[in-house]
Amino acid sequence: MTAAGADNAGTLAFGGGGLDRAAHLRAQACHDLAGARVLPMWRGEPLVLPDGLAWVAPGAPILAGAGEAVFLGLDPRGARLLAAPVAARAAAEAGGGGQGLGFGGDGTPPHPDAPPGAAFRDLRAVALTLTPLEAEVAATARALLGWHATHGFCAACGTASHSADGGWVRRCPACGAQHFPRTDPVVIMLVLRGNSVLVGRNAAWPAGMYSLLAGFMEPGETVAAAVRREVFEETGIRIGAVRLLASQPWPFPASLMLGAVAEALDTAITLDPVELEDALWLTREEMAEVMAGRNPAVRPARKGAIAHVLVRNWLADRLD
Ligand SMILES: [Zn+2]
Repeated sequence: MTAAGADNAGTLAFGGGGLDRAAHLRAQACHDLAGARVLPMWRGEPLVLPDGLAWVAPGAPILAGAGEAVFLGLDPRGARLLAAPVAARAAAEAGGGGQGLGFGGDGTPPHPDAPPGAAFRDLRAVALTLTPLEAEVAATARALLGWHATHGFCAACGTASHSADGGWVRRCPACGAQHFPRTDPVVIMLVLRGNSVLVGRNAAWPAGMYSLLAGFMEPGETVAAAVRREVFEETGIRIGAVRLLASQPWPFPASLMLGAVAEALDTAITLDPVELEDALWLTREEMAEVMAGRNPAVRPARKGAIAHVLVRNWLADRLD
């Protein structure tokens, strides 16, 4: 069930696993749960075993008091796949659920009702150990459950809304409005000038980590306009041609990363200190050293993240 052993350093996490979302089943999917498989989630993190996601039956003890399940789709054998948030009450009784992940994800004891060897793990940390299908399932579960947890009231009239259609809509009983899960587009760009790439770092990141510039798109913008605005706001650099290369769901909590290559028209950096702590140009040779872990001052973006894959492909001359 895993990609273990493969060289997955160039793999885009959550790059698409061919999940059959079976939208026509959503209206009934959470009513009769017989035969379904459920992925327990704790604070957005999936229950995993060393060889993949840890599915349980609908009546499993770990699901006692769990929040409302969502329907993700069908597995290749036709079984319904659901996800459900593990109850906070059980967490408190078990002595877990304090700060941090809890339940095995950070060295704490596992959930007492978890299958042997299973722990709730940081999805970003385990994404590349999952099959593409499992990664898509877990990302979808995290995004959908996170949306329900933070959108309990109708945005039109303020009344408590309820989940429907297997969790793919929330309906308001007072005004009839329907609300759908949100996905927030983010542009992330490989800004190039000759033989060099522009990278920056946010003050909140781990020491030494630099990545490609990125920012949320604004309403009314094209991808190219968002790339040009973000790069100019953060570094004062003007951008010419922009080309979209790849996309990546990034449910932390609800982003869709839109990876682009952008041609810089100049190189002088005027830093916006609110957005960035530092920005610099690295030559192809310097970036190769960074990616190889041989630069003591600059560390690369996380494996599996689109920034890592875009840089890797640029270094290998494989942007097309
Ligand atoms: Zn309403």
